[in-house]
Formats: sequence, structure tokens, C-alpha cells
Amino acid sequence: MNNDIERVLYSESQIQSRIAEIAKQIENDYADKQPVVISVLTGAILFTVDLLEKLDVYTTLDFIDVSSYFGGTESSGRVELVRDLKSDVKGKDILICEDIIDSGRTLQFLVDLLKKRGAKSIKVATMLDKPDGRDEAVTVEADYAGFTVPNEFLVGYGLDYDGFYRNLPYVGILKPAVYSK
Ligand code: 5GP
Ligand code: MG
Ligand code: MG
Repeated sequence: MNNDIERVLYSESQIQSRIAEIAKQIENDYADKQPVVISVLTGAILFTVDLLEKLDVYTTLDFIDVSSYFGGTESSGRVELVRDLKSDVKGKDILICEDIIDSGRTLQFLVDLLKKRGAKSIKVATMLDKPDGRDEAVTVEADYAGFTVPNEFLVGYGLDYDGFYRNLPYVGILKPAVYSK
């Protein structure tokens, strides 16, 4: 699996020390709150675990899964709920954990949904932010972001290609030969 990687963008130690910095910020911001952490399946699970274990804050954890469907053009992309939360978010402080924000449509869908359900506050932590991919209709942004990444297809640390590579502890770019397999 490691042999399929052309280049490492963020090493395991870079990722872990950046998460420690983010955890400090979140600790300050949530010192007197008990947020519900909402981890967006599947890609965000590594980030969620590594962030939560560094957080000295009373949190509860829930998961949600959404899918993006793309029509003829990029801009026709829409998002659907695949697996809902177990908890009621009404009146709760919410911290969304994401792997990457690209077009931002997934995040927009989630924030709109949680607002509609009466969340008290909503903040977003993402490991990676790809601002060049952003859809112009998207109005939400991350409050905490690990790294700003170039507009390339990345794998590892939760991000998959064809279901694989999520378990790499680093973020990298695949060798072109992998795509033609
Ligand atoms: P968005 O809705 O912001 O366009 O995209 C969100 C989802 O697209 C991410 O959670 C992730 O699953 C997928 N995605 C976006 N960029 C990448 C990438 O560079 N690599 C991989 N593997 N998935 C990506
Ligand atoms: Mg995601
Ligand atoms: Mg994916």
C-alpha cells in the first residue's frame, strides 16, 4: 500500500502536532461548554479520534454519513443523508469533525440540517481545507483547519481512493499508475 504513494504531503508527525495545536484552541473555546462532536463518516474517523484524545473537554460523540451525488456538471452536485445521528442536537453546542472541505457542499448540507434541528451553536474542525475547490454557492467555512491543501486528489489519513488508503497515517498523492489499474 505504501508503495502506491508518489509523494507525502503531510507526515504522521506533522499531522499529530498540528492536531495538538487545534486541540488547544478548541479547549479554550469550549472550556465552559459540553459540545456534541459530530464525526462525518467515513473519512473523518482518524481525525476525530486523534483530536478527541487530545481534548480535555466534556464531549459526547455522534456520527453522521452523507453522500454526494454528481449530475452532468460539478455545480449540479447534491448531498443526501445516508445515516443519521443518534442524538438530538436541539439546544446543543455542536463541533463538526471533517476530513476535508473541498466544494464545501457536504458541510453546507450539514450546517443547514443542524440549524434546522435547533442546534445552539455550530463550529467546524477539518483536517484539510481545499479552498480552490469551493462552490460559489457555499457560505460556510471551517473554524479550525489543519492544513490548507492544493487542488489535487489526496489519499490517506481517512481519505480513500476506491475505498482503500484510509488507514495511511499520513496524507499523500498516489502514483498515476494506480489510477490506470
Ligand atoms: P465537498 O462536499 O466539500 O466537496 O467534499 C467532501 C468530501 O469529498 C470529502 O469528505 C471527501 O470524502 C471527498 N474529497 C474531497 N477532496 C478529496 C480528496 O482530495 N481526496 C479524497 N480521497 N476525497 C476527497
Ligand atoms: Mg468527509
Ligand atoms: Mg470519499
